Amino acid sequence: MTTEVTNKTEETIKNSNFIKDIIDEDLKSGKHNQVVTRFPPEPNGYLHVGHAKSICLNFGLAKSYNGRCHLRFDDTNPTKEEQEYIDSIKADVQWLGFSWGDHEYYASNYFEQLYDWAILLIKAGKAYVDDQTADQIKETRGTLTKPGTNSPWRNRSIEENLDLFQRMRNGEFQNGEKVLRAKIDMASPNINMRDPVMYRILHAHHPRTGDKWCIYPTYDYTHGQSDAIENITHSICTLEFQDHRPLYDWFVENLPVPAVPHQYEFARLNLTYTVMSKRKLLRLVKENHVNGWDDPRMPTISGMRRRGYPASAIRDFCERIGVAKANSTVDFQLLENCVRDELNRNALRFMAVTRPLKIVITNYPEGKVEWIEAENNPEDPSAGTRKVPFTREIFIEQEDFMENPPKKYFRLFPGNEVRLKHCYYITANEAIKNPDGSIKEVHCTLDPESRSGSTPDGRRIKGTLHWVSATEGKKAEIRLYDHLFLLANPDKVEEGKDFLENINPESLEVLTDAVVEPDLVKVAPGTATQFLRMGYFVADLSHTPEKPVFNRTVGLKDGWAKVQRNQ
Ligand code: ATP
Ligand code: MG
Repeated sequence: MTTEVTNKTEETIKNSNFIKDIIDEDLKSGKHNQVVTRFPPEPNGYLHVGHAKSICLNFGLAKSYNGRCHLRFDDTNPTKEEQEYIDSIKADVQWLGFSWGDHEYYASNYFEQLYDWAILLIKAGKAYVDDQTADQIKETRGTLTKPGTNSPWRNRSIEENLDLFQRMRNGEFQNGEKVLRAKIDMASPNINMRDPVMYRILHAHHPRTGDKWCIYPTYDYTHGQSDAIENITHSICTLEFQDHRPLYDWFVENLPVPAVPHQYEFARLNLTYTVMSKRKLLRLVKENHVNGWDDPRMPTISGMRRRGYPASAIRDFCERIGVAKANSTVDFQLLENCVRDELNRNALRFMAVTRPLKIVITNYPEGKVEWIEAENNPEDPSAGTRKVPFTREIFIEQEDFMENPPKKYFRLFPGNEVRLKHCYYITANEAIKNPDGSIKEVHCTLDPESRSGSTPDGRRIKGTLHWVSATEGKKAEIRLYDHLFLLANPDKVEEGKDFLENINPESLEVLTDAVVEPDLVKVAPGTATQFLRMGYFVADLSHTPEKPVFNRTVGLKDGWAKVQRNQ
């Protein structure tokens, strides 16, 4: 599989979608007169941004062709599946903005039908019960260059197979003692056609069917038949199933299914600095490398939501990357760029100081509070204005003051004048030190004539700083997130090593001394904001006005544009 980072420009990636061409052709030729797709998650984990691509594709096609998209849980492995996952998957699909209407299905709805069809295959001499162990089956499957060998049980009589399969269902055998296999061709060049397993014995409680079954159908046997039962016209899955397509077709051809669905494959989404396999994501959660499935560093849909990524930005991203047949890895910055575009249009602006340094304005009266009008969003005048309190003591960012600045430092330093955003010009006079030599506070004076952001003499000021009143502002916790992995390809590990060794130990930084303007703490959890000069931040799920918590969604700088310019 290729994992080259895509270096196509956005324009060429945009809108490429070969599946639309196929659908257009099918509608034109009359092969289909409506479009029915499905999104078929296995409820064994939370959905990730790769699934978002599949969701946008399947639900998006249904929407644009006035068809429908089913949500079908592929719940054929009860040992790994849980109701919690089913609930989270439904919440995530809805949050992304899609609806399955009444079409919520479960592969387990079809267990009885699948069982009956398996019996038909046995009766037709096309399926048999095999007593070999899983290891023996694996060993006799052959390789790409060597054919497999027939099971000694391959030629059991139909009667014996029917009897054994019934007894498998009745619970007379232990896990792994027997399987039902399709009888196709152990010498097929396609390994998937070498008598694939259709049923295995699993004495396990199923979230929906309880203890009714102790044999469960495999994905390969279940998927196409479920598609047929639901009249799916275009069954779209990822490339690794391409070699399974002949098997998909074999079952459909050999069973009296009510429709003939077709499988189409597209390239799965890979993102730099991101692992996307549910098995790996599960380990990150279970081994406490992150704080749950919705940790803002996770590539899960719930993590991205908590991080403050708008659903519309994720949809936009999926549109921009398009749908192709060759695997590639998309630069994470493209996703961030989509997030930034959306937030730039809609996020309300506030001032927040993440690492505060106290400024005392010595020529301003103690106790006085002046309410300064500030625009909520320069991109959207209809967002209105708010009042921000200005007082004698304020905070600015520590990095916005230097005692001995280098050249081209236009922020605050002794003798220099800067503009406070929405407010006065101030000049630094003196840095007051703590006993250890660190800076305690900076004493400044303001120009009373500069309140409007300019002065009668029209003098030019190069630096503009954000600030928060030290006496009226509110304390807040701010969480800064970085990539969870240090390498662009975290899956690339040396033999014997684990992808977890690539974890970024500094992916989360918690700032507990931050101070924000008073209106900011009143926002509801999930509200998207821009902290002027600092980036986009979202009020965390746990946020309350009494205990404000903000997550950094993304910085202000557009890394993607830079990547493109450098190409
Ligand atoms: P994983 O390999 O992470 O466990 P999966 O494919 O087994 O994922 P499913 O729940 O079976 O997970 O996936 C549901 C649907 O989402 C499938 O149609 C699958 O092809 C699609 N899908 C999964 N991962 C991606 C991805 N990275 N890009 C695009 N589609 C994906
Ligand atoms: Mg799967």
